[in-house]
Amino acid sequence: MAEPLPAETDVVVVGAGTAGCALAARLAEAGRTVLLLEAGPADQPAETRDARTMRAAVPGSPAAVEVPTELTPTLSRSVVRGRGAGGSSAVNGCYFVRATPADCDGWGMPEWSWAAVLPAFRRLEADRDFPDSPLHGRAGPVPVTRPAPGYEPAAAFAAAAAALGVPGEPDKNGAGPAGCGPLPSNAVDGVRISAAVAYLRGRPGLTVRGGVRVSRVLVERGRAVGVLTAAGTVRAAEVVLSAGAVGSPELLLRSGIGPADALRDLGLPVVADVRGVGEGLSDHPMLQVPWRPAPGFPAPPGLALEQVLHAAPDGAPIEVLPWFRSFASLLPPWGSPSRDDGVLTLGVSLLRADSRGRLTLRSADPASPPRIAYDHLASAADRAGLRAGVRFAAELLHTPPMAALGATGTEPADDPLSAAVLAADGALDGWIGRHLGTAVHLCGSARMGPDDDPGAVVDGRLRVRGVAGLRVVDTSVLPRVPSRGTAATAVMVGERAAEL
Ligand SMILES: Cc1cc2nc3c(=O)[nH]c(=O)nc-3n(C[C@H](O)[C@H](O)[C@H](O)COP(=O)(O)OP(=O)(O)OC[C@H]3O[C@@H](n4cnc5c(N)ncnc54)[C@H](O)[C@@H]3O)c2cc1C
Repeated sequence: MAEPLPAETDVVVVGAGTAGCALAARLAEAGRTVLLLEAGPADQPAETRDARTMRAAVPGSPAAVEVPTELTPTLSRSVVRGRGAGGSSAVNGCYFVRATPADCDGWGMPEWSWAAVLPAFRRLEADRDFPDSPLHGRAGPVPVTRPAPGYEPAAAFAAAAAALGVPGEPDKNGAGPAGCGPLPSNAVDGVRISAAVAYLRGRPGLTVRGGVRVSRVLVERGRAVGVLTAAGTVRAAEVVLSAGAVGSPELLLRSGIGPADALRDLGLPVVADVRGVGEGLSDHPMLQVPWRPAPGFPAPPGLALEQVLHAAPDGAPIEVLPWFRSFASLLPPWGSPSRDDGVLTLGVSLLRADSRGRLTLRSADPASPPRIAYDHLASAADRAGLRAGVRFAAELLHTPPMAALGATGTEPADDPLSAAVLAADGALDGWIGRHLGTAVHLCGSARMGPDDDPGAVVDGRLRVRGVAGLRVVDTSVLPRVPSRGTAATAVMVGERAAEL
């Protein structure tokens, strides 16, 4: 039988995910008594350690949960989120690139400016390649490594970037102008170092309990006093939601903290009228531009990703990720005809999309998943940016170094990204609409903002407006998705929140 939950604690952190692990560990280190509650397993299955695949991130895996979403009003796709100790960092691609200085300064909150967060970025890492740089940490919990040179397709991709005038960027977590460079990752010798692996071991004062789903925050006289779970109620001096950009706004809404009208319509009691909860979802729309390498293409020695490229064709900031293993082998049960084995892709993400989505509750029944409507492609500028990105990726494939690796432009067989499709805006918009995905870098669903911002859910110290003793600490609070992947930034949010 499961051990009963402690009835009381100093701080209860809901969600042992990427930010939650860092936060809970640092609070315990500072002398607080912390209870970290996680809906998924505390002991993760072995496949979460293998950084060469994302086998743990598939429907049915104990380490993942599938969330239905509407990418556009006519395109429904489910996305996965990590579940269990480490959260999404236990199942993700191990790409570990920081938000940029412009991203942090652009959030407009003094507590989260680049100057304010750089110490947290340094503290969280042990950068194996740049330990002496003033921008880097050498002794933090998360090891950051870059691939050794020598894998020919990665060199070909870098040469293709150079052929299109993209500068080299040897340190993607440094201060250089954006360009193409080796991918920083939180993997060592093919082993994924999730936030749980990095932070949770041997922390006196920290109790971690898996298999405990929090259903609601208990609020008494305007103050959060604990959480409700199927295994019992825990009372706490402070409650922190680190349940991720889906879980945290959902919990706020189920606790009666959100737009009063919407809560009343569902028959939920209104505890605090906070109208920004679930609004302002921000993510990276993404496409996979497929290509088929020539027979005998060598598998990468380590991670599927070795390089990452940042550029702004036609003024649209994009990221290109050359995947050197097929998605069918990275996520086996999700292989589909259009993700045919042997077909590789250049992943193209739009980094500063205008589109904003919403997370709402469908019903008061806690078993019904929230509704997530992204509204990707709603903006003409975003559609133009995605066209520029796809065309840029196709150009990369046609450079001599990439063309030497294989054929280009004929995949997928049933809906090819042909020269004719690439040439015409309308045809390309159609192809993009049929193949659109999302990077699962959800942010902004409980965003921070100044006191006079009616859409802000938390303040600069991440305190929920209108409810004392309650904070949100995960990527939900970021007003806009950074123009990089979100994992490193999520760990930083946990570190910085502990300081605040
Ligand atoms: C498949 C996948 C691949 C990705 N690849 C990359 C990548 O390579 N690089 C990158 O930069 N970004 C990547 N991302 C995004 C990045 O990993 C996430 O944005 C980031 O890890 C989110 O951190 P978080 O702390 O906000 O939430 P999470 O890490 O998702 O943690 C939330 C935790 O809360 C728990 N929880 C939720 N609700 C409850 C509840 N009611 N009670 C108790 N616990 C609850 C969840 O089970 C989960 O463990 C990827 C994401 C996914 C899903």
